[in-house]
Amino acid sequence: PSGSEPATKIVINLERLQQLPADKVGPLARYAAAIQSQRGDYNGKVLSIRAEDLRSLSIIYDMTPGELTDQLINWGVLPPEARPAG
Ligand code: C2E
Ligand code: C2E
Ligand code: C2E
Repeated sequence: PSGSEPATKIVINLERLQQLPADKVGPLARYAAAIQSQRGDYNGKVLSIRAEDLRSLSIIYDMTPGELTDQLINWGVLPPEARPAG
């Protein structure tokens, strides 16, 4: 079924992320900030993260990776094309 597949290319829209309420995106925002810090990558409007990180985040959000992908697309944090065609 469409909308249940995890994103394969995860490119987070950092500007959108900052506009959303912390009670929704807090864990994701902290995770992204930690990766930016580890890389020393502070200048981007977007941040590419590992597929493995989506799996870790889905545990934090108590969702499947596919469900979290849908949530991130609904929030505008991932572009709709992040969801694999199927
Ligand atoms: P792309 O992967 O489609 O990324 C397009 C642009 O999005 C990048 O242009 C960059 O401005 C931004 N971007 C994507 N992910 C990140 C991120 O995690 N942090 C930051 N700060 N910006 C990000 P850019 O840098 O000129 O790169 C152009 C293309 O060069 C990329 O297209 C990709 O195909 C390649 N590239 C750049 N860096 C890497 C890399 O570390 N690994 C690989 N495999 N390709 C890279
Ligand atoms: P590390 O995992 O030991 O990776 C060391 C270096 O290998 C990285 O330095 C980067 O230059 C390169 N590297 C590893 N995997 C990839 C990859 O899939 N794509 C690309 N383009 N390069 C890769 P960097 O970027 O300074 O990161 C330093 C450390 O920060 C990493 O050490 C890792 O522990 C952490 N880190 C950075 N970005 C991420 C991320 O997106 N997810 C996770 N889980 N950790 C990250
Ligand atoms: P990318 O650099 O185009 O890498 C695409 C895929 O190639 C990665 O998907 C991973 O499966 C593999 N890969 C690339 N470099 C390495 C490496 O040094 N070690 C290993 N074990 N695998 C590698 P993945 O993991 O889903 O990452 C997606 C994108 O997230 C990467 O695209 C890159 O833009 C970013 N990324 C992931 N980890 C790091 C990192 O440590 N540092 C930086 N700067 N970017 C990273």
